[in-house]
Amino acid sequence: MRIHVVDHPLVAHKLTTLRDKRTDSPTFRRLADELVTLLAYEATRDVRTEQVDLETPVTATTGVRLSHPRPLVVPILRAGLGMLEGMVRLLPTAEVGFLGMVRNEETLTASTYATRMPDDLSGRQVYVLDPMLATGGTLIAAINELISRGADDVTAICLLAAPEGVELMERELDGAPVTVVTASVDERLNEVGYIVPGLGDAGDRMYGTAGA
Ligand code: URA
Repeated sequence: MRIHVVDHPLVAHKLTTLRDKRTDSPTFRRLADELVTLLAYEATRDVRTEQVDLETPVTATTGVRLSHPRPLVVPILRAGLGMLEGMVRLLPTAEVGFLGMVRNEETLTASTYATRMPDDLSGRQVYVLDPMLATGGTLIAAINELISRGADDVTAICLLAAPEGVELMERELDGAPVTVVTASVDERLNEVGYIVPGLGDAGDRMYGTAGA
């Protein structure tokens, strides 16, 4: 597994405002959306392309376009949904699947409550969207599901990560074709599984507390 922490002043600036508890939900959603687009730019550095011939008004030349099969973008519900627009802005022709996962706040284990994506992902590059890589349980379960369907290149885009989650992913996904792209690896997890300093509950910050 590879981890890429995006080091850019605009990323740091947007992340700082997301962390601030005074930032309201509409502003939080807009900034998260913008931040995802910046992370997506880095995360798609190795997106597969194929060569094409074309003619400009001046001459014949060659260029590239995204290869088939198209990449698949998979937001993990609920909070990953708030990252979808920012991602497909850069990859408008990507297909979108959905994975509903919920974390038991006592055991901190993840379970799946909804799946909507192709059974066969062989040859597909997959971009998983999950704002918070905390314990790593949710992301590991999601990535194992994608790999079991044949995905051979999985990139997880997370606004924030905790060192504990990164370590667990490195252990559990050792040798797997997985990259994590994030704006920051924070200090630690607290005793109730929140990232410190973090930004709180990403779903609640985006959507309020309904259904939390
Ligand atoms: N999920 C969140 O939304 N925030 C955290 O800090 C950890 C997990």
